[in-house]
Amino acid sequence: MKAEIIAVGTELLLGDILNTNAQFLSKELAALGVEVYHQTVIGDNEDRLLDAFKEAFKRCDMVITSGGLGPTQDDITKEIAAKFLGKELTLNEEALKDIENYFNITGRKMSESNKKQAYFPKEDIILKNNNGTAPGAIMKGKNGEIIIVLPGPPREIIPMFKEGVVPFLKTITDSTLYSKVIRLFGIGESSMAEEIKDILESRNNPTVAPYAKEMDVTLRITAKAKDEEEARDIIKPVENKIKERLGEYIYGEGEDTLEEVVARKLLQKRLTIAVAESCTGGMIASKLVNYPGVSEVFMEGVVTYSNKSKVENLGVKVETLEKYGAVSEETAREMAEGIVKKAGVDIGISSTGIAGPDGGTEEKPVGLVYIGICIRGKSMVKKLNIPGNRERVRARTTMEALNWVRLELNKL
Ligand code: ATP
Ligand code: MG
Repeated sequence: MKAEIIAVGTELLLGDILNTNAQFLSKELAALGVEVYHQTVIGDNEDRLLDAFKEAFKRCDMVITSGGLGPTQDDITKEIAAKFLGKELTLNEEALKDIENYFNITGRKMSESNKKQAYFPKEDIILKNNNGTAPGAIMKGKNGEIIIVLPGPPREIIPMFKEGVVPFLKTITDSTLYSKVIRLFGIGESSMAEEIKDILESRNNPTVAPYAKEMDVTLRITAKAKDEEEARDIIKPVENKIKERLGEYIYGEGEDTLEEVVARKLLQKRLTIAVAESCTGGMIASKLVNYPGVSEVFMEGVVTYSNKSKVENLGVKVETLEKYGAVSEETAREMAEGIVKKAGVDIGISSTGIAGPDGGTEEKPVGLVYIGICIRGKSMVKKLNIPGNRERVRARTTMEALNWVRLELNKL
């Protein structure tokens, strides 16, 4: 089943309001397995709306409209839909009663013009509006065309769609779309696309689509099936193939976050952690604390921003700072080792870097960051060059540190 959305309203064309109804309808239709390839916005103009219906039905079987069901002369959607389908509008007594009733409940007086909202083609299904005056309708044409007219205000269209349209659509479609999201960190969108080029290109069932966000990339695998169980079966083999190729980058699925995954692993393995932060200024600790229940494994976080603090709180050697500087492999290592000793934990992480915008040199440019990790007596340091502004350098360092802990935990 292919459907199109026509949003009616000059306000939309002028940019006075945002077409959130189209977004809502598209999401709902996708979830029901109805394909939507076109959306249209049309002003309150008879000829252009009639043309829009003609064009749409060259491509699809069903059109859903939003807006233009009000009582005034420029509310024309229902009238033009009926005209397009060659239908007469007559007064529907039940719809009229519902409208009168709505006015009674809300304590307002119904005006003569509201009567217009009770006119429908005799043979069609009328959709009740419990949140406004205009009923909607499901109109069927001679050649199997379906036009569903719905009101414009979101507080009316959303419940009407859920209560009246979804049950109807379920009777005429026999499939649903189900998707699974896989989350990756540490690989760019283009390298990922390269690794699974063949999978992304296959436009079969399921389809796989990449999305890149500021910090991580995701893959959405979508299957069309008769129910969720069948969809899961369709998704599984493709998911496994992706895991085979990109496994080390995959940290979670669905709504998982990196810090949550790390916290869960720590709890599972009963390992404790503490962090010593310089350039991230508490961000790593703050991320870990997002996870409820982390108190069992997260023992301490210190922000040692000055050299003095690094020496006093973590036992970093003065000579190390003098010889290599605060932003160095050696300092990062001593910070990680220091916090392990201080907090008496299994794992220590440290960060030190030049977040910018000032303070960079040729030898140590802005974005140079060292992350240290000390895990059961063994310490390691990673050097990173992170492009971007101060905020990004700090945020990226935080994610890199958490991801490194995740990878090390996998090895234990
Ligand atoms: P009414 O009976 O209120 O006139 P209607 O069905 O005729 O309702 P419109 O007149 O087209 O609908 O729009 C009424 C209001 O609904 C708009 O002012 C706007 O706030 C909201 N609205 C209309 N269309 C949309 C849309 N596509 N997306 C989001 N909001 C919309
Ligand atoms: Mg209106």
